[in-house]
Amino acid sequence: MGYETVKADFLIIGGGTAGTMAAVRAKELNPDANVVIFEKGHIRRSGSIAMGMDAMNIVAVPGGDTAKDYVEANTKACYGILDAKPSYVMADRSYDMVKRLESWGVHFPKDENGDYERVKVHPNGNFCLTMPDPDLKIRLVNKVEEHNVTVYNRTMVTSLLVNGDRVVGATGLNTRTGEYILCEAKAVLVCNGGASRFGIPNTGALYGTYDYPGNAGDGYSLAYRAGADLTGFEYCMQMSLIKDINVPITYVSKSRGAKVYTALGDELDMGDTVNLEMMVQAYRDGKGPLFIKMQHLPEEQIKHIENILFKVERPMMERFMEGRGMDFRKDDIELNPTEIYLCGGHGLTGIVVNEKAETSLKGLYAAGDVSNVSRGHLTGAFVFGEIAGEQAQNWFDSEVEIDREQVEREFKKIDELKKLQDNEVPVEQVEYKLRRVINDYLPSPKSEYRISKGLDNIRVIKDELKEVMKVTDNNELARAIEVGFIADCAELCAVASLNRKESRWSERHYRVDYPEMDDENWLKHVVLSRGDKEGEIKVELRPIDYNL
Ligand SMILES: Cc1cc2nc3c(=O)[nH]c(=O)nc-3n(C[C@H](O)[C@H](O)[C@H](O)COP(=O)(O)OP(=O)(O)OC[C@H]3O[C@@H](n4cnc5c(N)ncnc54)[C@H](O)[C@@H]3O)c2cc1C
Repeated sequence: MGYETVKADFLIIGGGTAGTMAAVRAKELNPDANVVIFEKGHIRRSGSIAMGMDAMNIVAVPGGDTAKDYVEANTKACYGILDAKPSYVMADRSYDMVKRLESWGVHFPKDENGDYERVKVHPNGNFCLTMPDPDLKIRLVNKVEEHNVTVYNRTMVTSLLVNGDRVVGATGLNTRTGEYILCEAKAVLVCNGGASRFGIPNTGALYGTYDYPGNAGDGYSLAYRAGADLTGFEYCMQMSLIKDINVPITYVSKSRGAKVYTALGDELDMGDTVNLEMMVQAYRDGKGPLFIKMQHLPEEQIKHIENILFKVERPMMERFMEGRGMDFRKDDIELNPTEIYLCGGHGLTGIVVNEKAETSLKGLYAAGDVSNVSRGHLTGAFVFGEIAGEQAQNWFDSEVEIDREQVEREFKKIDELKKLQDNEVPVEQVEYKLRRVINDYLPSPKSEYRISKGLDNIRVIKDELKEVMKVTDNNELARAIEVGFIADCAELCAVASLNRKESRWSERHYRVDYPEMDDENWLKHVVLSRGDKEGEIKVELRPIDYNL
């Protein structure tokens, strides 16, 4: 089997928010460094941003709420399951990040006093700066190009290469041509997002997920298989968004005066912010569907909201509204809970990192939604991308030794998938079946019996993949590899959910057999890693580090 070999000082897996920032920072510090990005899609539009985002959710503006205030607020939001230092460092560097982005042309509006425009989204503190810039992703990519970073588009990383306890590179697949590529790297950053393709959306559309569907839990699975520590897999994230299209509306509109009502006609009293858990609970209590109402808002404000939703974030929403004849001025907008998904940037699921973006494996860094800088959103991805770009420099003078047998083994696994042309079940149906099991068994309300049944089913599907799954072209080949990643994430989610024998985070992890939150025994991280035996998952309970 032939493959191209690329040598890099720094390999970045994923050219999204964190990846672009990491690349630029690494080149700023060392313009001669050979910095390479492997990106599964095309970097100009890939990842959660795609175009722009309405706000930078966490910024500690000097003179306002501080980084310490943010850590306090976030610890509350995480029900105590948060290591303080990474969150503190993120908030502490957030204002400088705004200044950096402004210098790249990103628009942060200010009021007549010259203060940054903010909207209230956090119950405690005021950290959210508006950023109505539809060209955010393009600006990031322009900087990557300006710094001569080498980008391989349509290149999906399929495994991390490990020598002893150090990560020394990765194998990749060109998703268009099916060709193999090996990158030998002195330092590696995993920043390829969370597991968006996890539960199935209400529409049944496998790619109709809230978060970017190209992120199929690849990063979690790659790190797990390489032996890194992961945590927060019992935290099953869910939003409440516009029914049948799954695009954001709640934060953008509620923070600008919209109201949320239950089907019984009562306003859902969430104060001046959005309480996602309260919304999901209302559905569970039979008060759904919930609705957003904006009819009371002045025309100017509705236009402002439309501009953010249609022009900055997701233009397809405008077409959807037109197609259905829906208008914020006269119609209630029906909401629906999204599919469950795993995400460190919105939730708590991630590769364990410290404040230097270091993972438990040498030479391997993690940043953004794939890491457990919990609820960091864009700020977490930008700041930890930047930190990883700095820390990676420590390895640039080192030598790398690749285990050629591991490389051969990894490519052989893909060769095996290429042979599955005569099997019977199309890969998309296998993905559908796996994600239906996720929907049926992994969301709350959870119980030992239910999760165990789910785990059994997930393991059966994993075992059967090679016997049933049909793979006929390179697109399906990439998808077959993704199915393996999703299955790993499902297994990790089930194991973590079984192990946390209490309820926490409201509907994110509600165990009917342990309905109470139990701080005495469970104010701890459930940390997972690959066990010594084939297929074994090691579980460790780790104390929380509240020190700043
Ligand atoms: C709809 C929506 C609205 C949001 N709004 C806001 C907001 O207003 N404010 C805010 O602060 N945050 C917001 N967020 C959150 C924020 O966008 C994310 O936290 C952040 O962008 C995550 O960055 P990332 O680099 O971790 O992942 P991404 O930017 O998603 O990048 C991951 C990249 O990895 C690539 N990839 C995946 N697998 C592989 C592989 N195997 N090999 C190679 N490449 C791979 C993907 O193609 C992708 O380009 C929003 C998120 C969504 C989905």
